[in-house]
Amino acid sequence: MTIVLNHWIGGAESAATSTRTAPVYNPATGAVAKNVLLASAADVDAAVAVASAAFPGWRDTSQARRQTIMFAFRELLNERKGELANILTAEHGKVTSDALGEITRGLEVVEFALGMPHLSKGEYSENVSTGVDVYTLRQPLGVVGIISPFNFPAMVPLWFFPLAVAAGNAVVLKPSEKDPSAANWMAALFTEAGLPDGVFNVVHGDKEAVDALLVHPDVQAISFVGSTPIARYIYETASAHGKRVQALGGAKNHMLVLPDADLDLAADAAVNAGFGSAGERCMAISVVVAVEPVADELVAKITERMSGLRVGDGMRGCDMGPLITEAHRDKVASYIDLAATDGADVVVDGRNVDVDGEASGFWLGPTLFDRVSVESKVYMDEIFGPVLSIIRVASYAEGLALINASPYGNGTAIFTNDGGAARRFQNEVQVGMVGINVPIPVPVASHSFGGWKNSLFGDAKAYGAAGIAFFTREKAVTSRWLDPSHGGINLGFPQHD
Ligand code: NAD
Repeated sequence: MTIVLNHWIGGAESAATSTRTAPVYNPATGAVAKNVLLASAADVDAAVAVASAAFPGWRDTSQARRQTIMFAFRELLNERKGELANILTAEHGKVTSDALGEITRGLEVVEFALGMPHLSKGEYSENVSTGVDVYTLRQPLGVVGIISPFNFPAMVPLWFFPLAVAAGNAVVLKPSEKDPSAANWMAALFTEAGLPDGVFNVVHGDKEAVDALLVHPDVQAISFVGSTPIARYIYETASAHGKRVQALGGAKNHMLVLPDADLDLAADAAVNAGFGSAGERCMAISVVVAVEPVADELVAKITERMSGLRVGDGMRGCDMGPLITEAHRDKVASYIDLAATDGADVVVDGRNVDVDGEASGFWLGPTLFDRVSVESKVYMDEIFGPVLSIIRVASYAEGLALINASPYGNGTAIFTNDGGAARRFQNEVQVGMVGINVPIPVPVASHSFGGWKNSLFGDAKAYGAAGIAFFTREKAVTSRWLDPSHGGINLGFPQHD
């Protein structure tokens, strides 16, 4: 009988009331590994009620106690990350080394959250007026909702919930229904670390569950990561219901290669950033913009490296795994015919790949298009698969204009040995995260993650100082302790004297 994955509410597995389910596949075999429950609005209500009940006690728990639990969670996660990596590989398909990399980047945010007592400190100004002091407090919001995508089932939730919880909030996480087990595993681990029941809950589901969170009167904030159309919808709906919202969307990331670049370094970077995690990364490089005259040489170097990539079951030590579902694989593969129709050169066709895995897996090998037109859907769409496009330009200025014309602004990179050119690029490019000879410039946890334009709705980035600000509300207190010399009536607006 196929296993059914339950929600995690109040510190334990919970079946709730809805019996709707969705299949969860092992993408390397194509088999249904389990089914996941899909919550109804009533199930979301129940989870929010549990979180609301847990919030006051957690908010009032001392910082010292909260930090002890966060430290224990960090230790357990670090010790047992191999178990989590296996879950990621089994449901997402990414290879083990990549799964461990994802967890390490998530752990980084847990470690950052360990600084919460310092990071959430207020400020104090003494005697701003005679006998009057002003100080600020950072207080938790209450119940916060987190809605995450399939491509980082551990790291993206970890961008948010460690900070939300360490700051004293209660959380309802709605992970992707395509690879939901990592969320339950992390919730169980947090309980083992000593987190009180109800502070961190997982509700599985689809649009119905998401919509219930977006409009719920007891949910104070929404952190969302996913595709651009859904991010826009989340931002608009949750904002209209009075919530604080950060909604990170899709991407189309360009890598600009100047003629003076180290072309071996650039080719390595393009292959790593284009095909790692089968291109299912919001910071994947999907377009290499080659400034002539180096395009022929760069394409040859990329093609040569691609021929050495081993595609297969992530458990078998391959370089690249399958795509998340059959439908997604077919959609990504459909761009290969489209590229040819639109006049691009199909240099490597991933449909011909040799796979170290079962034939029924959702495979597509690394694919390379050259001379892609900016009018082609291949260029305009976020394909989100192992597909790299080359666009040839005559100058830095032409490349920059192309990047700045994109409706997305998540990540970009420049490859050059010219510091002046790199500095000019970092100043002129209209993108939120920039790499200089670094292809996937995901900022470390002490900075913040987020793009510009259609890659982020709302102005609050994830983690770092922005994350602390997002999950806390500042309160300014003006205080005067009674001094007999300050009596009397005065209806004027308060002034400093
Ligand atoms: P998605 O938008 O399909 O799903 C994201 C979440 O939204 C899931 O939890 C899903 O259940 C929910 N959802 C889906 N359709 C919905 C609807 N109609 N109404 C309400 N909720 C809905 O994204 P995905 O396919 O899971 O993930 C890939 C996308 O996420 C890519 O576009 C990628 O670029 C983006 N992404 C962005 C970042 C970033 O930081 N900017 C990071 C990771 C992924």
